[in-house]
Amino acid sequence: MGDSAPPILSPLPHFAVRLVAPDLSPWLAGNTGVRGFTSRDSRKAGPHVGLIALTHGNEIAGAIALARLLEMEPEPERGRITFGFVNLAAFARFDPRQPTASRFVDEDMNRLWDPAVLDGPRQSSELARAREIRPLIDEIDILLDLHSMLWPSDPLILCGASEKGRALALAVGQPALVVADHGHASGRRIIDYPPFVDNNDPRAANLVEGGQHWEPETVETILAAVAGVLRHAGMIGEHHALPPPPATPPEPRFAEVIRTITASSGNFSFVQPFRGGEVVAKGNTLIAVDGDEEIRTPCPDCLLVMPSLRPSRGHTAVRLARIL
Ligand SMILES: [Zn+2]
Repeated sequence: MGDSAPPILSPLPHFAVRLVAPDLSPWLAGNTGVRGFTSRDSRKAGPHVGLIALTHGNEIAGAIALARLLEMEPEPERGRITFGFVNLAAFARFDPRQPTASRFVDEDMNRLWDPAVLDGPRQSSELARAREIRPLIDEIDILLDLHSMLWPSDPLILCGASEKGRALALAVGQPALVVADHGHASGRRIIDYPPFVDNNDPRAANLVEGGQHWEPETVETILAAVAGVLRHAGMIGEHHALPPPPATPPEPRFAEVIRTITASSGNFSFVQPFRGGEVVAKGNTLIAVDGDEEIRTPCPDCLLVMPSLRPSRGHTAVRLARIL
């Protein structure tokens, strides 16, 4: 191994935590029978919109956004809104000195949404919680799962593989970058839960990646996405305290993931510190080296989706998408 080879176990860089974990104690009891889930019901016909945060326990921007919304005592003009804080056990361990450590307790909550797993015999902190919230998730017509990212990236909406997911994301409108993908080989996300992907079911779900985990701007981006979905569902009027729609809406961009790159060596490195949302114009451009293997763009105008600049072996390093 030459002198220039990167170390096998390079530590993560320091990520500043510019947000304070919200006090969720007013919302823990909830009013739905499910801890951490609160509904506001107009008692008028309309859709049931679910806004959920803390699917990953350390992604506190979404929780701050939802706590702020709950404090506004929002009354939908029709239908019902449910606000949910998902992985409360992981969130309870959030420590700004070690902010990456509280993503989950036992396993990733966002890989369990397969009925065979949910109905199966396996036990974990996250499975217990998923089983607890599932009956309420089953009642939701339109779901936004509010996330954030570790590495620098343009905000985006992941709409999964379904046509209805894509239509929802483009209707929400913010973030303007919509990425269709096929999820993770390691398990189904909440947005991949069958009711949200089956063509014969009208229910739909999107995952919002609002920006970097602990940046104030991420909270604002998430609130804009929430305003977008509630406006789309006809549930808030112009007078609402949520951010108004932008005077000139951003140009929507839609991209489809065509390749997911998994680090197969302990020695993966990008040729430069790419930012998520960057577009590499030329096809067959070298973007990374994984041990001895070269990683090149599979198409012209290749969009880099959420590059993880220090992927460990077996983890997703980047998704490569074609802009449509
Ligand atoms: Zn997340």
